[in-house]
Amino acid sequence: MMTPAGVQELVPEDRIRSRVAELARQIDEDYADAGEILLLGVLRGAFIFVADLSRALSIDRRVDFIALSSYERDARRGGVRLIMDSRVPIEGKHILLVEDILDTGRTLEYLLDAFAARKPASIRSCVLVRKPTQETQVTPDYVGFDISDEWVVGYGLDFDDRFRALPYIGTLDPDAID
Ligand code: 5GP
Ligand code: MG
Repeated sequence: MMTPAGVQELVPEDRIRSRVAELARQIDEDYADAGEILLLGVLRGAFIFVADLSRALSIDRRVDFIALSSYERDARRGGVRLIMDSRVPIEGKHILLVEDILDTGRTLEYLLDAFAARKPASIRSCVLVRKPTQETQVTPDYVGFDISDEWVVGYGLDFDDRFRALPYIGTLDPDAID
């Protein structure tokens, strides 16, 4: 497949696939006695990751999604707001939050607080990529890839709603796109 102008491949498709399989094996092990987990994917960036991770798991799992306010600039300042809630009740469930990126960590911090307040049996988090730009104390339980502080797209991640369907993760030079 051709790489679009401005995008440079960073994590190829086969590396994503094998890392997702590794994460799934780890999660299978960690939750072996849990009975069932609820994967809570954060729209829209995590939709492909959730699709692949949920299918790579062997343990009993349900899948649901939540959505946050799409003001990324606000999110960087900590102004995160839930605009679509889970349909499955959280109380008593083993929750695994699935996010696309850990940047400052404010989004994940907000979500962990908000969902912990609903009395789940347990709550953990899984992020596809982590940047070295954290400004919070949250530690995700599962991390796909550690990357440098560059804007990444593909595999669900966007820039201005573009590039989500690329099968790999790539870095973006916004000055070089069409
Ligand atoms: P936070 O700073 O709260 O950890 O992340 C803020 C938001 O910006 C998150 O929703 C995250 O998905 C998004 N974000 C941060 N860095 C990138 C990036 O490089 N690419 C994309 N597509 N989204 C990003
Ligand atoms: Mg996002």
